[in-house]
Amino acid sequence: MKISVIGCGYLGAVHAATLASMGHEVVGVDTDAEKVGHLARGFAPFFEPGLEELLEDGRGTGRLAFTTEMDLVAGCDVHFLCVGTPQSKTSEVADLTYLEAATRSLAAHARAGSVVVGKSTVPVGTVRHVRSWLAGTDVQLAWNPEFLRQGTAVKDSLVPDRLVYGVDEADAAAPAVLRALDEVYAPLLHAGVPRLVCSFATAELIKSAANAYLATKLSYINAMAELCDAAGADVTQLAAAMGLDPRIGQRYLAAGLGFGGGCLPKDIRSFRAQARELDVASVDTWMGLVDSINVGQRARVAEIAAELCGGTVAGRRVAVLGAAFKPDTDDIRDSPALDVALRLASAGAHVVVTDPKAINNAWLRYPQLQFEAALRNACEGADLVLLLTEWAEYRTLNPHELAEIVAGRVMVDARNVLDRDVWREAGWTVHGLGTGTQVSETAPAR
Ligand code: NAD
Repeated sequence: MKISVIGCGYLGAVHAATLASMGHEVVGVDTDAEKVGHLARGFAPFFEPGLEELLEDGRGTGRLAFTTEMDLVAGCDVHFLCVGTPQSKTSEVADLTYLEAATRSLAAHARAGSVVVGKSTVPVGTVRHVRSWLAGTDVQLAWNPEFLRQGTAVKDSLVPDRLVYGVDEADAAAPAVLRALDEVYAPLLHAGVPRLVCSFATAELIKSAANAYLATKLSYINAMAELCDAAGADVTQLAAAMGLDPRIGQRYLAAGLGFGGGCLPKDIRSFRAQARELDVASVDTWMGLVDSINVGQRARVAEIAAELCGGTVAGRRVAVLGAAFKPDTDDIRDSPALDVALRLASAGAHVVVTDPKAINNAWLRYPQLQFEAALRNACEGADLVLLLTEWAEYRTLNPHELAEIVAGRVMVDARNVLDRDVWREAGWTVHGLGTGTQVSETAPAR
C-alpha cells in the first residue's frame, strides 16, 4: 500500500520505518526540516534501539521517504496522524493545535477514498473535531491508538500486544476502512496479533485508560514505599511477593523515582481534565492523587540528598547518573532525573549529570547543570552519587571502582536497582526508596 505518516517524532518515525519494513511504500511528513533531513539520510534524529537499521533498510529498498511537503501524500491510500498532543501550557488539557494543523493540511491533499487514521493519543471526543477539520473531503476516518514504548518501540511495533481499530460501525464505509487497516497490518494479523474493533470513543479511551492504569500501579507502589519507610519494611521484598500473584504481576511494580516522559504525565493530566468535563469526579480525584504521589517522589529524593548531606546540599558536589526519563532513550521530556538535578542545583549543589545517550538533548536546555559524557568525570570528587535513571551500565556499576573516584561513598539509589549488600560491603552508604532505612541510620556525606 501507499501510506503517509504525518508527524515523524518518537512515534511516527518508528511507525513509518516499520510499515516500510512490512513491504509498504511509505512517505513520512514532518514540519521539522532538520528532523526530516536526518531521517531522509537514514539517520535516526533520536536514540531508539533498532530504528537506524530499519531506516537504512527503508532507504535501501526505496520504500521509505521523508519530506516536509504535504502535497507528496496525494497518492497515498492510508494516512496516519502521528503528531504530538502535549499538555497545554496553561492547563491540564491536551493541546490539539498540532493535530488540527496537520489534519487541515492533510485535508487539502488527501485523495478521495483514502483513509485517515489517527494514532496520536487524544482526549475522548477528539474524532468529532478531526471530522470537522476534514470537512469537504471524501476521506474515511479511523482511530488506531498506539501502545509502543520508547526504548522498545521497534519491537513493540513489529510485535504489538494488540491492534485497536476505532471506527464508526454504523457508517456504510466501515467495512472498507477495516479492510484497509487489515491490509496495512496484514503481517501482524497473520502472526496472530489480536485485533479489537470498537467505537471511536472506546478507542480514544482505551489508550488513556491503559496509561492511567500503568501510572496508578507505579504510584501505588510508591505510596507503599513511603509506608515501608515509615514502618521499617522493605518495599522491594513487598513488591516481589505481591507480584508473584498472577492477578497483580511484577511489571510496573518497582518503587522509585516515578514516571516521566512525553506521554504518561501529560496523558493522566489530560485524562483528569476529560473526567472533569464529563463530570466523573472519581477519575479526576484518582488521577490527581496518582500525579501528586509521582511528583512527590522527586521532592522526596531531593530531601534525602539534603538529609544525607547533613541538612543541605549547598556547596556539595553531587553526581547524577541519568538524564533521560527512562533507560534506552535519549528523551528528556519531563525527566524525573533532571527534575531532581535541578532541585539540587537550585539548593546550591554543584550538580554534574551524566547519561549514556541524553546529554546532547539536556545540556543546551539546562545551563545551570554541568554535563559529562563520561561517568568517571561526573563522579570524580563527588560527595554524593544519585542513581536516577536505571540504565544497564548503572545497574552493573562496580562499587569498588566507583569508590576510588568519589570523595564520599554515599549513594542514593532512587530506582532500587543496586545490590545494597554488595555496595555496603564495599564501604558505601546506600539509600533506596522504601527500603526501610531512615537517613538518620545512614552515615552523612561527610
Ligand atoms: P514528538 O514530539 O516526538 O513528535 C511529534 C512530531 O510531529 C514532531 O516531529 C513534530 O515536528 C511533528 N509535527 C507537529 N506538527 C506537525 C504538522 N502540522 N505536520 C507534520 N508534522 C508535525 O511526539 P511523539 O512522542 O512521537 O508523540 C506523538 C503522539 O503519539 C502523541 O499524541 C503521543 O501521546 C502519542 N504516543 C507516543 C508514544 C511514545 O512513546 N512517544 C507512544 C504512544 C503514543
